[in-house]
Amino acid sequence: MTEVLDIAKKDGRWTECPSCAEIVITKKLKENMWVCPHCEHHFRLNAKDRIEYICDKGTFLEIEEVLVNREDKGQALDEAIAGGEATILGQRCVLGVMDFSFKGGSMGVAVGQAVIGLMHHGKSRKLPLVIFCASGGVRVQEGIWGLLQMLRTAHTRALTRDVPMITVFTDPTTGGVSASFASLADILLAEPGARIGFAGPRVIEATMQCTLPPDFQDAGKLLTNGFIDMIVHRHRMRETIAFFLRWFSET
Ligand SMILES: [Zn+2]
Repeated sequence: MTEVLDIAKKDGRWTECPSCAEIVITKKLKENMWVCPHCEHHFRLNAKDRIEYICDKGTFLEIEEVLVNREDKGQALDEAIAGGEATILGQRCVLGVMDFSFKGGSMGVAVGQAVIGLMHHGKSRKLPLVIFCASGGVRVQEGIWGLLQMLRTAHTRALTRDVPMITVFTDPTTGGVSASFASLADILLAEPGARIGFAGPRVIEATMQCTLPPDFQDAGKLLTNGFIDMIVHRHRMRETIAFFLRWFSET
């Protein structure tokens, strides 16, 4: 039986939940938006799936500002962020979706430029901005140019502060992304169980010579501490974002 399980897991038909270790049929998991039916664990999503789950069907259109640093314009995702205009339950917005599966969702020059492009696009089109964040932080391979993106995105946010902005912290959002534009939104949402922080717990424990509580950097703990506004289940994300977008357009 274990052998059969191994084969089914290997070819992707079955998936093991990393939280409760239950084996789930991948097709069922997809139908459930990659939320474990046993323990509600939210699996990490790539940008394509996220866009499919969040936008009204066929309404997502990539915009030129985000494609600026790509070699093949309009081609499949080749950076840690996808961005465009979309409609969510009838509400028009500018949408950015980070992808952790591309180099850990790290923010290099192209990602920084894309975020800036989205902010300016929101301002010129008078549309609110929604960004789904998933990142290990700044792209270390780009050195100081990577780090500079924290300053650039934060500065652009200050220049475009009249654009209503919602960020959704998904698992994980850490490092330079959480410490720059992600935390500068008007409304900060998070998915259940998302890790949100700056440095990882191992680094902090080693530096501070202390033991951290198990819920350290957990979305629930950050909600209690007032860092985020709301934890939203993936099944309710569309309605929640649409509610805020409607609220922005009315005020
Ligand atoms: Zn589970």
